[in-house]
Amino acid sequence: MAVAAQPYLEKTDDQKAITDMVRQFVDEQIIPKAEHYDHEDEFPEPIVEQMKELGLFGVTIPEEHGGMGLDLTTYAMIVEELSRGWISISGIVNTHFIGSYLLMKFGTDEQKERWLPRMATGELRAAFSLSEPELGSDVQAIKTSARKDGDAWEINGQKMWVTNGLMAGLVFTLVKTDKEADPPYKGMTCFVCEKEPGVSENTGAHAGFNVPPKIKKMGYKGVESTELVFDGYRCPGENVLGGEEAGLGQGFVQMMDALEVGRVNVAARGVGIAQRALELALRYSQERKTFGKPIAQHQAIQFKLADMATKVDAARLLTLRAARMKDAGERSDLEAGMAKLFASESGKEVVEDAFRIHGGYGYSKEYEIERLYRDAPLLLIGEGTSEIQRMVIGRKLLQRHKI
Ligand SMILES: Cc1cc2nc3c(=O)[nH]c(=O)nc-3n(C[C@H](O)[C@H](O)[C@H](O)COP(=O)(O)OP(=O)(O)OC[C@H]3O[C@@H](n4cnc5c(N)ncnc54)[C@H](O)[C@@H]3O)c2cc1C
Repeated sequence: MAVAAQPYLEKTDDQKAITDMVRQFVDEQIIPKAEHYDHEDEFPEPIVEQMKELGLFGVTIPEEHGGMGLDLTTYAMIVEELSRGWISISGIVNTHFIGSYLLMKFGTDEQKERWLPRMATGELRAAFSLSEPELGSDVQAIKTSARKDGDAWEINGQKMWVTNGLMAGLVFTLVKTDKEADPPYKGMTCFVCEKEPGVSENTGAHAGFNVPPKIKKMGYKGVESTELVFDGYRCPGENVLGGEEAGLGQGFVQMMDALEVGRVNVAARGVGIAQRALELALRYSQERKTFGKPIAQHQAIQFKLADMATKVDAARLLTLRAARMKDAGERSDLEAGMAKLFASESGKEVVEDAFRIHGGYGYSKEYEIERLYRDAPLLLIGEGTSEIQRMVIGRKLLQRHKI
């Protein structure tokens, strides 16, 4: 029996309009230029300038602060498109998005008014910093510490792997403010540390905040990853996220909340890079001939393409589900963990299959897949490794299904 039903639509008209616009920008301005910036490991300043004009730094920032005021779902769709072009571009937006989320959710009115309008235009960009040389997964083991001295907090310590560490003007930094706290997470505070963008040795009000030369990486080039050295840096009490009274000791909880949306963001990046690898494989497999026919006509290659496309769609659906649940105000920690785990692992697998389909040419720098092959593994690590995602998923499953 036929049943009248609404046609299945993945995107609203508005979401389609904005993602079409971003896709066109990616096809015209990012994909043709990514090889150059990747090869030179150069910050893609002209692309970033165009992204500012398109408003892409203010996608989730409310309109009253100069942003577009869009939801996490639409943001995830945009991130997929940017990552399809080059994951380094989405990396420039990623930490900025987490910083603006932290401000929107936990900042005081004064903090929002002070920073969000310039963040919405991209004039002021944000990084976030948890990791240190001796820790990444074990966040409660942070050693960087702050001590109250007059009306400021003096911060000392070293941070590691800070994406946008040089070009950012604000770094949301997790610091120990009470070494005796038990459990340790209660003694951690998030400071909004201000500095001069692009300057490695800060002076004046920002003295004591230094950025060593960027870390050399196998992929994820163009966007810088840096250490940060705090050596007597004085952060005013008013820069404690949420205000000194309410924000002290809340840093761990605030950062973990932000990582939940960050995981949706990384999942969307996995979908984007996998989508691009699938497109490259579909094209190449119909062009390349072996044994008298296009390799796409060999069943082994078709099966690979089938598995790749299935993983891309499944990763996208998991990502959008997690985003939609968060937008609906529902708990989505389990779903965000699943999306991040599946989409990042699928991203790596789909890229590897596309690489195999390219045969020897996949190993050549003449082909885009070579860059994707170096870029994809980052997603297995950032915002919590796959092992950490499994820990989160397992713990949440048992909480939800306690007997
Ligand atoms: C390019 C890049 C950019 C980054 N950007 C940022 C950033 O902007 N801000 C930031 O704060 N950090 C950033 N990071 C750091 C990233 O979040 C950490 O690298 C990540 O959390 C893993 O930490 P780790 O490297 O210290 O590995 P470790 O924590 O030392 O882990 C090593 C291995 O042990 C496994 N492991 C750890 N604990 C357990 C356990 N309990 N059970 C089972 N296995 C376990 C891990 O999964 C991993 O396989 C970035 C990293 C990279 C590579």
